[in-house]
Amino acid sequence: MGVISHQSEVLVKYNYSMNHLSEEQVAQIKGLLLEMRQKILSSAQEQIKDPSNIAFEGGGEIDRANIETERYISLQRLKTRELKLLRKIDYALYKIEIGTYGICEGCGAEIPFERLMARPVTTLCINCKELEEEGEHE
Ligand SMILES: [Zn+2]
Repeated sequence: MGVISHQSEVLVKYNYSMNHLSEEQVAQIKGLLLEMRQKILSSAQEQIKDPSNIAFEGGGEIDRANIETERYISLQRLKTRELKLLRKIDYALYKIEIGTYGICEGCGAEIPFERLMARPVTTLCINCKELEEEGEHE
C-alpha cells in the first residue's frame, strides 16, 4: 500500500486531533477504505485487461473504429473517475496515518463517526459540504 506524500501544510496545524474517534472506529474506517481501494483496483484491472467485451455486428472498418474510440473514451472516463476516488482514498488513509482524519478541512470541526462510515473519503463536515455544494450547483 503506497502512501502519498504530496500533502498540503494546512493539515499540519491540526496535529493529532482524532480524539473523537476510538481506535476501533479508526480501524473500522481504515478497513473500509482499504476495501474500497481494492475493489477499484481489481475492477479497473479487469476492464483494462479484457478488450473483447464488444461484439461487432457486421460493421465495416469505420464502425469498428468508432466502437474502438468510444470504448477507449469510456474507459478513460471511468479511469479518471476511479482515479479520483482512489486519490481520495489514499488521501484519507494518509490522514489517518498522520492523525488528522475526521477533522473538517473547512472549519476544523470533528466529523461524526456515522458520517465517516457512510462516506469515508469525506474531508468536510456536513455544514461545509452543503456550502460547497451550493457553490457548485447554483
Ligand atoms: Zn466544516
